[in-house]
Amino acid sequence: MTTTRASASLARSWSLLYLLVAIGWMGCARDPITGRRQLVLVSEAEEIAMGRQASADVDVSMGLYPDDALQTYVEGLGLELARRSERPELPWRFRIVDSPVVNAFALPGGYIYVTRGILAHMGSEAALVGVLGHEIGHVTARHSVEQMSKQQLAGLGVGLGGIFFPEVQQFGDVLGGSLGLLFLKFGRDAERESDRLGVRYSLTAGYDPTEMATFFAVLGRLSEGRASVPSWASTHPDPQDREQAILEQLRVERGALTDLEVGEEGYLSRLDGLVFGENPREGFMRDQRFIHPELRFQLDYPEGWRVQNTQTVVYAAPPDGGAALQLTLARAPEGTSPEAHARDFFRKNRLEFGTGEQLRVGPFTAYRAPFRARTQNAEIYGQAGFIADGELLYELIGLTRANAIRGYTPIFNAVIESFDRVTDERDLEVQPSRLKLYTVPRSMTLANALEQAGMTEDDRDTLSIVNNLRLNETVAAGKRIKILERSP
Ligand SMILES: [Zn+2]
Repeated sequence: MTTTRASASLARSWSLLYLLVAIGWMGCARDPITGRRQLVLVSEAEEIAMGRQASADVDVSMGLYPDDALQTYVEGLGLELARRSERPELPWRFRIVDSPVVNAFALPGGYIYVTRGILAHMGSEAALVGVLGHEIGHVTARHSVEQMSKQQLAGLGVGLGGIFFPEVQQFGDVLGGSLGLLFLKFGRDAERESDRLGVRYSLTAGYDPTEMATFFAVLGRLSEGRASVPSWASTHPDPQDREQAILEQLRVERGALTDLEVGEEGYLSRLDGLVFGENPREGFMRDQRFIHPELRFQLDYPEGWRVQNTQTVVYAAPPDGGAALQLTLARAPEGTSPEAHARDFFRKNRLEFGTGEQLRVGPFTAYRAPFRARTQNAEIYGQAGFIADGELLYELIGLTRANAIRGYTPIFNAVIESFDRVTDERDLEVQPSRLKLYTVPRSMTLANALEQAGMTEDDRDTLSIVNNLRLNETVAAGKRIKILERSP
């Protein structure tokens, strides 16, 4: 979680989508590019409105990567491609989100995102152009709006009844995967179509699509034998097949084009200093302790619970998903008592609350109280703690079902009571890892080059993938490779 971003929920986008369906018209339009008949629920103006709203949620909930030069660079490349696409008039927008995950996604209306994680894993401007072209393809072929429309229908059928107030919705998110609405999953055909469009846009702009094919090899390696499959790979099946398909298309469409741009050197220079992996300044876990060095607090979660830190909320849940505990940050005028804030919170969220108590946790004043909420399908019970630190007010909301609240109340209370100032001063100094460039002094294997650059054994496999080189592969003298600058 970060200090600067206000607590936001996705409730707005849900109500917007609901409205769009209510006023929308059912129609079948022929796509301008593919000629395929599609189920289209929304007009272009509605498509843009839908994308703009969802993008505002992405900006807040995921956060943009704070590097203006890099943002401008990606935006410039994207606009150049979009201008040559079949829908140049859309309000195209290209942004880097501050996430270590390897991902890129397109929202309806031309709102395209890449993560800093995907940038770190690419080796050339042409690869980036290929990925941006692919995402542009999802918009020009209207996959994004089509898919969002389908999800609206699905959502209305099953999910919407449960969304009563934001906390319950987030409760659903932590169990069902957060931001599911925004990460639209496309079918295999849609992916292939976007690949073809990506290749075409790359060629039109003079870039070499071979680099896009190469990037699929990186995605393939990322998903090999790893617990966490990168999203872009998991939603985009068969990296190897797609690599081949791209090369095949290139053979056919390249024609007389020569001197296609790769842009390796310039691209690598731009990655120098890029934050890599999770940024611990925004909070990190050590065993079951969550530590936030910027906000200078820590708290302890129960053994075995999984904790997910996002820009606005820290979610936690036991392995069986039978409860959820979320931590959010609110601002209140200095001197607002935790009790006054609690009453306000309960009223705003239309929660019935019981008798509470004031307490001290660490050096802070706090208030806690039980509450319950009735949704259409179930009764949710909870225990909430509110902790004041100057004008900051932390809200710790534990939720579970009626028959489990007795067992969970002491567990929620223990987490609330563990809230404290950071106890180990060294935790306040933690810094993120950053990508650095290392010029290989003479021809040697990647393994040797990484050793020469002072990289540890632990980082070798990661850097092998990030550089798209095998450890025993020879690196030529003078070539620059990506290495890591670790926090001391
Ligand atoms: Zn895709």
